[in-house]
Amino acid sequence: MAKRRLNKQQKWRIEKIQEERAARASRRERDIDRKLQSGELGDEQSGLIIAHFGKQIDVEVLEGEQRGEITRCHVRTNLGPLVTGDRVIWRPGADDLGVIVALQDRDSLLQRPDKFGQLKPVAANIDHIILVIAPEPEPHDNLVDRYLVAAENCDITPVLLLNKTDLLSDDNRSAINALLERYRGLGYQVEQTSVHHAPEEDSTIERLLKDRTSVFVGQSGVGKSSIIRRLLQDNSIRVGDVSESTGKGVHTTTTARLFHLGNGDLIDSPGIREFGLWHMDPEHLEYGFREIRPLIGTCRFRNCRHQAEPGCALLEAEARGDISPERMQSFRRIYTEMENSDWQQPG
Ligand code: GDP
Ligand code: ZN
Repeated sequence: MAKRRLNKQQKWRIEKIQEERAARASRRERDIDRKLQSGELGDEQSGLIIAHFGKQIDVEVLEGEQRGEITRCHVRTNLGPLVTGDRVIWRPGADDLGVIVALQDRDSLLQRPDKFGQLKPVAANIDHIILVIAPEPEPHDNLVDRYLVAAENCDITPVLLLNKTDLLSDDNRSAINALLERYRGLGYQVEQTSVHHAPEEDSTIERLLKDRTSVFVGQSGVGKSSIIRRLLQDNSIRVGDVSESTGKGVHTTTTARLFHLGNGDLIDSPGIREFGLWHMDPEHLEYGFREIRPLIGTCRFRNCRHQAEPGCALLEAEARGDISPERMQSFRRIYTEMENSDWQQPG
């Protein structure tokens, strides 16, 4: 197909749109400045970002009479990118539009590279990443390890959750159990559930979520949406269910949203569910394999590719049994794919 050429009129329109956008941005900044200086803003107080819509942010009030309510806020560009899960300091405005004036320290930050490879924050203050796997679709070490590597590189604890235990059979049980044992052996918490179990009988997910902020990630088809849908149905106390000011429902936004469930918080977005499936550098890969991390820099050759080089600390560790053949194979496979750069981010 011939490359589409923009005609003069289209070019003019695009420029005009860009100019208007820039003008709006500077008007907004001026407006915020004016509010800050005029003293028309209320006292500083803490809040929690529960959703993000372009330049506007939904902040949950964490103190005072309005506690639990949601306020739309503007944010100054000099605060850097703010994300769902961030705790902030904000000031109420007379016109119901507050201003975020500071970002509080983050305990953790979930980041992913944008299309230029620059790390971009996605969500903050997540306590653990629940990596969902299932007997079907069959879990490939390779894919499980990619998710784990991404989690380890954000320094957020991953937990493995086997869903669809109702599909365990004599055909797949031993392979799945071996896989779970392997990850348990590496120190990962491993849990099992099925969305077909009644919540009264199976409290696995409830326990996992208790008093924490969680995200669910994993391969398509393992049951993440089913688990999340049920969690949201089971919990009548929800925050940001339907945003009044936009009328947009939960699933119409692609940005991350925070939900208060009965006993813990959930941050979710389509992007988060696929967290981890992107290009990684060898250094990130080595860091992301727990049993390889202590060996970083100990190979004889500084540029060792851990394939068949003499004095390779990884090969020696594998021979000693300190790295399982499955993990080593998975490591090598991801490593080679990264080198060949034939891994395309899905979507
Ligand atoms: P997602 O892509 O990870 O969000 O997966 P979905 O939630 O869309 O689930 C994929 C399919 O698996 C759907 O047909 C679900 O009904 C089914 N499913 C989800 N959880 C379970 C489970 O525990 N057991 C069984 N047998 N099927 C499940
Ligand atoms: Zn090596």
